[in-house]
Amino acid sequence: MTANRLRLGVLEGDDIGHEIVPAAVRVAEAAAAQTGLGIDWTPLPIGRRALDTHGHTLPEGTLDALAALDGWILGPIGHRDYPKLPEAINPHPILRKHFDLFANVRPTRSYPGIGCLHDDVDLVIVRENNEGFQPDRNVVMGSGEFRPTEDVTISVRVITREGSRKVARAALELARARRKHLTLVHKNTVFKLGCGMFVESCYEVAQDFPDVTVDECIVDTFAMKLVREPQNFDTVVTTNMFGDILTDEAAGLVGGLGMAPGLCIGRGSLAMAQATHGSAPDIAGQGIANPYAMIESTRMLLDWLGRAQGVSQAVEAAAQMRQAMDRALADPATRTRDIAGTADLEGMTQGILSALGAGTGKRAHAQA
Ligand code: ATP
Repeated sequence: MTANRLRLGVLEGDDIGHEIVPAAVRVAEAAAAQTGLGIDWTPLPIGRRALDTHGHTLPEGTLDALAALDGWILGPIGHRDYPKLPEAINPHPILRKHFDLFANVRPTRSYPGIGCLHDDVDLVIVRENNEGFQPDRNVVMGSGEFRPTEDVTISVRVITREGSRKVARAALELARARRKHLTLVHKNTVFKLGCGMFVESCYEVAQDFPDVTVDECIVDTFAMKLVREPQNFDTVVTTNMFGDILTDEAAGLVGGLGMAPGLCIGRGSLAMAQATHGSAPDIAGQGIANPYAMIESTRMLLDWLGRAQGVSQAVEAAAQMRQAMDRALADPATRTRDIAGTADLEGMTQGILSALGAGTGKRAHAQA
């Protein structure tokens, strides 16, 4: 970063990633132009196209190139459709792990008229990113899941004090900046050691945050309360797998996966914008995907970097993006069909750009 500039990577991912990531770049670029923020975009290959062009879904050099940046946008990864080859790995857990992006910040916000199940929802679930039950990331070699006999499968869940403390601190800092209320979601009634360690670690770190009210909820009860009274929650922290499930449930309350953004953060300022949803192969190439989650994830990245690095133009650009998206979402003509609108992806992107006062800007930065 220099003065008012940020260096950001662009990794489109797969399927609808090739549509929604360029949309997010166009909107961010337009907002940056309004506030005098310079963004140096670095496109980098990843995913299925990288397998075709570079022989690997995470080509050599990509990690080094990312290390030189302030942050990046990662589009959704459709690894389930990759060919069964050693070069065709799921790259996104590797990025999270390699850069120690241990906290996945996933907000849920309701907007009027888009088909939300509740009004006035404004909560954030902070999901632990790098351990837990996920077998492709909770061991250094091999897999956290194995089959000792044809009829027996064992899945290992990893919980560490350090991992729990790190995500707890990130969540407490977030809660402090919000409504100062953190809910720990776990199941220590059954997972006495694993969830027990997670909860203990969270309370230990919470001693440094006397201004934040901390309570807890058993995960199954939380799943029920989230559906019935989501307005009662502010910031939530939980382990990896619970967070994976609950963030999709939360998205379902406010219009579906197109409304589910996310930002992966670690200890420093480095961050990765990554929407909660997958690559949606069922709608890819049709120009109908909802770009909100990807644009909002990018907005969160600008806001995060702006605050962490003291770049006020980035914070201001993020604020302008928020206002523009609020305006676009208020009009059915500038929102996609999954959220009670009539627009396609391009129409919604144009709506946001117009609200930014950025004219059409059509495809100007689509190659970034
Ligand atoms: P993953 O496990 O990789 O997160 P998933 O199984 O949850 O993926 P998605 O790819 O997220 O699956 O898609 C689930 C459903 O949500 C699909 O019907 C898809 O079309 C829809 N969906 C996902 N993202 C969007 C979006 N941005 N706009 C509109 N619909 C979406």
